[in-house]
Amino acid sequence: MSGPRLELRLDLIRHNATTLVSRLSQRNISVTGVTKVTLGSVEVARELLLAGVRSLGESRVENVEALRLAGVTAPITLIRSPMLSQVDRVVEHVEVSLNSELTVLAALSAAAGAQGKRHGVVLMVELGDLREGILVGDVEATVRETLRLPHLDVLGIGTNLACQSGVSPDARNMAELSCLASSLESTFGVSFDLVSGGNSASLDWALGSSDVGRVNDLRLGESILLGRETLRRRPVEGLHTDAITLVAEVIEAKVKPTQPWGEVNQSAFGASTAVVDRGTISQAIVALGRQDVDPAGLGPPAGMTVLGASSDHLVLDTGATTLRVGSEVRFAVDYSALLAAMTSPFVNRVFTGGAVIDPTTAEGA
Ligand SMILES: *Cc1c(COP(=O)(O)O)cnc(C)c1O
Repeated sequence: MSGPRLELRLDLIRHNATTLVSRLSQRNISVTGVTKVTLGSVEVARELLLAGVRSLGESRVENVEALRLAGVTAPITLIRSPMLSQVDRVVEHVEVSLNSELTVLAALSAAAGAQGKRHGVVLMVELGDLREGILVGDVEATVRETLRLPHLDVLGIGTNLACQSGVSPDARNMAELSCLASSLESTFGVSFDLVSGGNSASLDWALGSSDVGRVNDLRLGESILLGRETLRRRPVEGLHTDAITLVAEVIEAKVKPTQPWGEVNQSAFGASTAVVDRGTISQAIVALGRQDVDPAGLGPPAGMTVLGASSDHLVLDTGATTLRVGSEVRFAVDYSALLAAMTSPFVNRVFTGGAVIDPTTAEGA
């Protein structure tokens, strides 16, 4: 196989998922295992299910359909508000969706009715991060209207923090979510199965808080795949941070000066930055660029530095290491680099360490 490749150690991903599922279960919190950054990878989804997640979480119906096509029958939650234009597909393929618009809820109900199904919904509440969510003052009216929709089951409420504005889940906003759940239940005489307390940014709060209140589910993607909480991107104790790496091939390796020459204007991606003259260095180019990855999110091997990247060339100062043309360099990835690499048609994926053996190829395994 040629070309850059993402290597996914399924055994390490499973370990991360199992560890988080078990730690959170001690707090009576279940896990929705989010596969969106993997574009709905069935390999990853299977590991998450083996690890005991309650449901899979996906943001795009296309990814959900890919999972269904690959034979995944486990419950899937759509974690982005459905597009009005996709409600039929949503109702067909997912059991539950997160919602914040009555128009969409009404369309989901109608679509479910037409398909002779029921569809579960979680109403998202805006608690300050200013991405999706019903404003607190409107939640009661929205729940009232939603309860009237004949083909929906209101499973509970949820919130999403940190993604847009970096607002941290804390004792105050998490208690607000719990209070809201309880007060809605008594107002409407219902009981909520789900109070979904956020994403990987809620991990520190959930594991460290003396009282998690009504929160009984977290939607986790990055912490499982990359082993870090996401408020400060610190490694979570006991998790692997190297389950996913990106490997690319060296296409040029030379000793070159650090200082460009000639009149300097803009580079391919805007302003060029002044460089300190450090004499000559071992420079290597790997066949990787912005069409494959977010270069700022790459962690090169120890002793090497990323000097820059254009569409298809990533330039490295390889320090004391001399690389040969044709050899490979392995990079750590952050969420942004992972997302871009997963989405690039040029980047291959190699899965190792999977627990699920394909029965059609399992002879002698
Ligand atoms: C992406 C997303 C998640 C998962 O976030 P991670 O940081 O990867 O854990 C959870 N909930 C919603 C609504 C999301 O969009």
